Amino acid sequence: MLCAICQETINDCVSCYGCKNHLCYGCAGLEEKSYRRLNQDKKSAWRCAHCKNTKNETSINEVILKEIRDIKSRVNSIPELLEDVKTIKCELEELKDACNENNKRLDEFDTTIATMEENVSEINHIKDKLAITRVDFDRIHH
Ligand SMILES: [Zn+2]
Ligand SMILES: [Zn+2]
Repeated sequence: MLCAICQETINDCVSCYGCKNHLCYGCAGLEEKSYRRLNQDKKSAWRCAHCKNTKNETSINEVILKEIRDIKSRVNSIPELLEDVKTIKCELEELKDACNENNKRLDEFDTTIATMEENVSEINHIKDKLAITRVDFDRIHH
């Protein structure tokens, strides 16, 4: 058997779970002793450096993909958000209109009160004049 990396003949080897290549201990980065200490599960699940890196790349890609999906779903909700903003803007406009309307009514009310006050003072004026006229009238008849 040949090592997949250094091409040296090997009797005892480490096989990669990922690429199924057979590597010598040196190329596997393992000490024969420590490899032998691993249990069968760990031995069969062992991966060479290349496959470990690929695995990491895959998981990084998965993380990036997940983030892209998250961003996409957020981007998808932007039209909804815009719709909300539009609604809020409309409601604000309506509120502003209502406020303006109320202000207008208050102004009108003020004007009405001012007119009424003028009328009242006019009436008082007329009342005074009437009182004077009555005094004059009484004086003439006595
Ligand atoms: Zn080798
Ligand atoms: Zn491998």
